[in-house]
Amino acid sequence: MEWELSEREKGFQQIAREFAQSEVLPLASEIDRSGKIPKGLRSKLLDLKFQSIPLPRKFGGASASMLSFVLAVAEIAKASPSVAFFTCASLGGMFPLHFAGSEEQKAAFLRPLCEGEKLGAFALTEPQAGSDPISMQTTAVREGDEFVLNGEKAFITNAALADTYTIIAYTDKAKKHKGMSAFIVEKGTKGMKFTKMADLLGMRGCIVAGIRLEDCAVPKENLLGREGDGFKIAMETVNIERVALSGVGVGIAEACLELACEYAKVRKQFSQPIANFEAVQFMLADTATEIEAARLLTFKAANLADAVLYRFSQEQEQRGLSAEAVAVSQEERRRKIEAFRKIAAMAKLFSSEVALRAASNAVQIHGGFGCTKECPAERFFRDARILSIAVGTSEIQRITIAREVLK
Ligand SMILES: Cc1cc2nc3c(=O)[nH]c(=O)nc-3n(C[C@H](O)[C@H](O)[C@H](O)COP(=O)(O)OP(=O)(O)OC[C@H]3O[C@@H](n4cnc5c(N)ncnc54)[C@H](O)[C@@H]3O)c2cc1C
Repeated sequence: MEWELSEREKGFQQIAREFAQSEVLPLASEIDRSGKIPKGLRSKLLDLKFQSIPLPRKFGGASASMLSFVLAVAEIAKASPSVAFFTCASLGGMFPLHFAGSEEQKAAFLRPLCEGEKLGAFALTEPQAGSDPISMQTTAVREGDEFVLNGEKAFITNAALADTYTIIAYTDKAKKHKGMSAFIVEKGTKGMKFTKMADLLGMRGCIVAGIRLEDCAVPKENLLGREGDGFKIAMETVNIERVALSGVGVGIAEACLELACEYAKVRKQFSQPIANFEAVQFMLADTATEIEAARLLTFKAANLADAVLYRFSQEQEQRGLSAEAVAVSQEERRRKIEAFRKIAAMAKLFSSEVALRAASNAVQIHGGFGCTKECPAERFFRDARILSIAVGTSEIQRITIAREVLK
């Protein structure tokens, strides 16, 4: 089955491809070596507004499909997975505001993020609470017109770099996940400090660090949604982020296949190109097959994600439709939302593992050269390794899928 891309989707893909090849690729190994994305490149990326492709035009986004974002981010990943991961984290920092922000909050906080004037981050993980967010310790206590936050967050992408953070904290620990709430915290708020940056294995261009909150007071207006909505907001955010990262996985795998094919055709052993050897051909064939499957699963997840992302604008979209058409489209939307969580977990699980196998095969095909920093496959291999851990490990994706399958 060939997935039909709309003209608009092809447009985003093309813009991202040109930008990635001309502006990102030349800097990719330096980004990995230095552990940072140059400020100039970050600014260009944010100005192009890749990060807000699937967010509403009303707040500065492009109101385009999630698939448009996935296509763009896959092109960027082919050049530098770090830059693609940064773009996904920037989008992730906006989802809580999109899902739960009031009109005032969206105007004040979401718009500058969509426009690329500011950068966002999403903070759920803690030193003792990763796969099991219920065990987190951060609290928010209401004191007059403020909430006072205390606790520590770990492994937060864009920490210290971002301007606007969504922080998940307990407002009522006894209620477990129903006692979690989400807060907007702006950089510079008294009591908010950043802890040591992680020296990462892969995705080294991304800034990942901890956040310490010591009597960090935010106005009560910075609560997102209602008290107790935090877990729901966090899960909706990670589910959509999983689709975004699936696109990064597809991009890495595609780049690795291209590199491996090019090398296999020119590297000669036993007086012939190594591409002539069946053992090498089988690695290429397996990678190509898995890429096709990962791409289709990712596209399907992106397609379902739109039902989740745009459910809020449902009313406006449906104005002018007959009652029957509205009923059908509501039913369709409900069905897609229900299917979404499982398919998003499948896409994240499969794409990240396909990316890692593709990168591992590419290293193998490059032989000794594949084990050196001069070979891009080495970098893709380290970058791919991060994908099966960030935004939920492969084990957690399998648990999510199994739960849905056993329902
Ligand atoms: C580069 C990077 C960027 C990140 N960015 C962010 C961010 O921006 N915001 C944020 O909030 N978080 C972020 N994270 C955190 C990430 O989501 C967590 O690392 C991830 O959820 C795993 O949590 P953990 O590291 O505590 O591992 P743990 O939960 O301690 O897991 C350790 C191992 O145990 C396994 N395990 C745990 N529970 C089970 C179970 N029930 N069954 C089977 N196996 C299990 C896991 O699969 C894993 O293999 C980032 C992480 C990385 C690496």
